[in-house]
Amino acid sequence: MTEECDVLIVGGGPAGLAAAEAASKLNVRVVVLERQNEIGYPVHTSGGSWISDMQALGIPENLYHPITKVVFISPNCAVPLDYHPAVACVLDVRGVYQHLAGRAIAAGASLRVRHTVETAIQENDRIMGVTAKNHVSERINFLAPVTIDASGFSRHIGVRTGMGNAFHRYGYGAEYDMYAPHYPQDELFLIMGNKYAPRGYAWAFPRGNGRVRLGVGVLHPDCDDDARSYLDSIIHDLPQLSDKFKDASPIEYHTGLFPSEGPIERFSRDGLLLAGDAAGQGSTLVGEGIRFAIYSGRMAGIVAAEAVKAGDTSAVFLERFDKQWRARFGRDLDIAYIINKHIAGYSDVQWDNALHLMQRLTPTQVAQALRGDFSVGLIMGILARNPGLVATGGKKFLDVLLERINKPVGNIS
Ligand SMILES: Cc1cc2nc3c(=O)[nH]c(=O)nc-3n(C[C@H](O)[C@H](O)[C@H](O)COP(=O)(O)OP(=O)(O)OC[C@H]3O[C@@H](n4cnc5c(N)ncnc54)[C@H](O)[C@@H]3O)c2cc1C
Repeated sequence: MTEECDVLIVGGGPAGLAAAEAASKLNVRVVVLERQNEIGYPVHTSGGSWISDMQALGIPENLYHPITKVVFISPNCAVPLDYHPAVACVLDVRGVYQHLAGRAIAAGASLRVRHTVETAIQENDRIMGVTAKNHVSERINFLAPVTIDASGFSRHIGVRTGMGNAFHRYGYGAEYDMYAPHYPQDELFLIMGNKYAPRGYAWAFPRGNGRVRLGVGVLHPDCDDDARSYLDSIIHDLPQLSDKFKDASPIEYHTGLFPSEGPIERFSRDGLLLAGDAAGQGSTLVGEGIRFAIYSGRMAGIVAAEAVKAGDTSAVFLERFDKQWRARFGRDLDIAYIINKHIAGYSDVQWDNALHLMQRLTPTQVAQALRGDFSVGLIMGILARNPGLVATGGKKFLDVLLERINKPVGNIS
């Protein structure tokens, strides 16, 4: 069996769905292939995000839960920060993804759940489409002048078509989604240190109606530990949280992998684009990729549709996506990666010191840094409040940061 369309999308996650909506709005025929039975299930993310982005992306308010207090915990220090009004939020992940799916369908896209993509179809070094197995195990060839690989961590088509190797450095996360009747629903916790999250961090993300996602993420191969083994000790042993998790029980259990290598070298070749996690387009600073996947998917969908309409789906045309993406996100996400590599090996003492420094920042500065909005102004503001940073050995690191910040925006690194 063979089916044809104009833009073929592998993966019905946030990147693929946003690409489908954007391309369909330009009146090209779009098909999305998703291997799972449902969009947004199983959940493999914690859903932490930012209200301003959800507003910019048109996500309805009832699909995210605002956070007014963020507490950072290291082995011997705690920094609570208040936000009024709230800037951060926790998503109803399934609700948001299904909302994006509805928008893609309303724009004209066709979604196929339970369609597992197996191989890429190639001719003379050009990607012509993919083969997929449907819900009754029939094999179908899907042909299109442009395919977008939005398959997330597996980068299913990318790794089979010479667009780089499988990700080697990644965050491995394990999480309970709990009903926790005593947990304060406006407080989010980020926990650092070797006892609970070596080479990574742990989190408690409330998402409304008594529900809380409690998780641990560990960086591999920097550390070989199994994130799952830390979950129960956080609930029972961490003094700041044990009362809050009294009488709580998990309702769901999630695991997931997040690429932590920075963006891949190229996102495009003849007939193919990669978007979202498949291209390493999330922030490695805190393992945040949902809003980036939506923005990037949208950008990829528009370039793909424009290429189809121009009758030119060559690598040269499709490289517009690389250029646009790097102009908008390249610098900030490069800096996020530089910081991630720097802090990944922090000892408990270094985390305590980092939190002491954080105490001198404003809540706005901390939010801006976590969001990855790096500007010379932010770094200078941080230095102004922490003049000791340069003297205490941070100079080399700051020089690397400032060098990247000062590189022209749009530079393909
Ligand atoms: C433990 C953990 C916690 C996280 N927490 C956060 C957070 O708090 N905030 C945040 O913003 N980000 C977070 N992230 C990152 C975020 O989940 C990702 O960046 C985001 O999901 C990327 O979206 P995507 O569409 O690129 O890929 P995905 O969401 O992975 O979607 C890819 C889709 O492709 C489908 N697929 C894969 N292979 C095939 C195939 N062969 N055939 C058909 N379909 C296929 C998959 O089933 C999936 O639906 C977290 C990640 C992990 C692992």
